[in-house]
Amino acid sequence: MRSISIFGATGSIGESTFDLIRRAGGAGAFRTVALTGARNVARLAEMARELRAEVAVVAHEEELPALRAALAGSGVEAAAGAAAIAEAADRPADWVMSAIVGAAGLVPGMRALRHGGTLALANKESLVTAGPLLMSTAEAHGATILPVDSEHSAVFQALTGEDRAAVERVIITASGGPFRDWPLERLAAATVAEAKAHPNWSMGNRISIDSASMFNKALELIETREFFGFEPAMIEVLVHPQSIVHALVGFRDGGVMAHLGPADMRHAIGYALHWPARGDVPVERLDLARLARLSFEAPDELRFPALRLAREVMALRGKAGAAFNAAKEIALDHFMAGEIGFLDMAAVVEATLERLSGEVALGIPAAGLDEVLAMDHLARTRAAECAAHGKKGR
Ligand code: NAD
Ligand code: MG
Repeated sequence: MRSISIFGATGSIGESTFDLIRRAGGAGAFRTVALTGARNVARLAEMARELRAEVAVVAHEEELPALRAALAGSGVEAAAGAAAIAEAADRPADWVMSAIVGAAGLVPGMRALRHGGTLALANKESLVTAGPLLMSTAEAHGATILPVDSEHSAVFQALTGEDRAAVERVIITASGGPFRDWPLERLAAATVAEAKAHPNWSMGNRISIDSASMFNKALELIETREFFGFEPAMIEVLVHPQSIVHALVGFRDGGVMAHLGPADMRHAIGYALHWPARGDVPVERLDLARLARLSFEAPDELRFPALRLAREVMALRGKAGAAFNAAKEIALDHFMAGEIGFLDMAAVVEATLERLSGEVALGIPAAGLDEVLAMDHLARTRAAECAAHGKKGR
């Protein structure tokens, strides 16, 4: 029986993963080791009971009594705190879903890789923050990382059976989000509710807003480089409002392999769950005649500076990814709290990178996880300062 763990089980990706596990036989077909969540104790306990998990872990210590109460009599262990989540990743499982949002997903993912199983990686932030470290840890322990981001699953699928040395370019698509057609002046006043309303995908709040600002695509550019190892100049972004073509891979003979699918993350999650086989996944089937039209356009880097910043980060590499992601997380916190405007997010990230480049050699790679976490911490401090400064200036 295959053993599994889900980190971030109560989120959007976590729920979709749970749904697929249940459809594939649930507790009768999988031995569940660990399920984790941040706050939704009742839902986490419900999932842990159904899958008969060994342990359920909640991120915040103060929720432990509530989790214990919700699990009473179930035989499921309860634990709480970031250290307990990392310890849950020390319990070996054959297949681990990494679906915590933000850099908080890095440590559990790194620890899970040490068992040499399969890490289904939705948490793109860990590749942006510590790509080389994550990939070398996987290699050292014989672990497999399977991308769960839809674009990266698409690239992975398009590359299967191909010679990677024959790849000329990789194109990941972006829907353009809710503000694709908005003029720059209007973007400045965009609200949190407007930014959350993604036209095609149903996702967690943070990634939805990142999609509206294109910071999600910026992270994904870096993710493409770190996961597949392609040079930045080979990686392109194409705006494709219908979100049907998720990525394209072009080869030296001029051929292009495209991956198409509905905008439902259960396809990419199901691919990672059943890989290398293809399993039955209950997503809507494409009806291209009904869709009739697929359109593509170049992204506007003036309105979406996140893409330009990602190019700068890729050129620097080193610790720049950790700084970029952390600054972006803080800028997003401030936008969600109503403290800065929509366009200020990119301004805060850019100002943070500028300040940091005067303090540390961003281009020097981190020697280990501690250095990555120190960079993450420093960038959060500087970004909070830049955001506060921006507020005063308005
Ligand atoms: P979400 O906000 O819906 O869920 C996040 C999960 O992480 C929840 O279980 C939450 O309780 C937990 N969590 C949040 N903060 C935590 C912390 N500090 N410590 C421990 N746990 C914490 O997010 P999501 O949309 O499911 O996204 C999860 C990850 O997958 C992100 O990295 C995102 O970029 C990536 N991703 C999501 C989608 C999507 O369609 N939702 C698509 C591609 C990639
Ligand atoms: Mg994606």
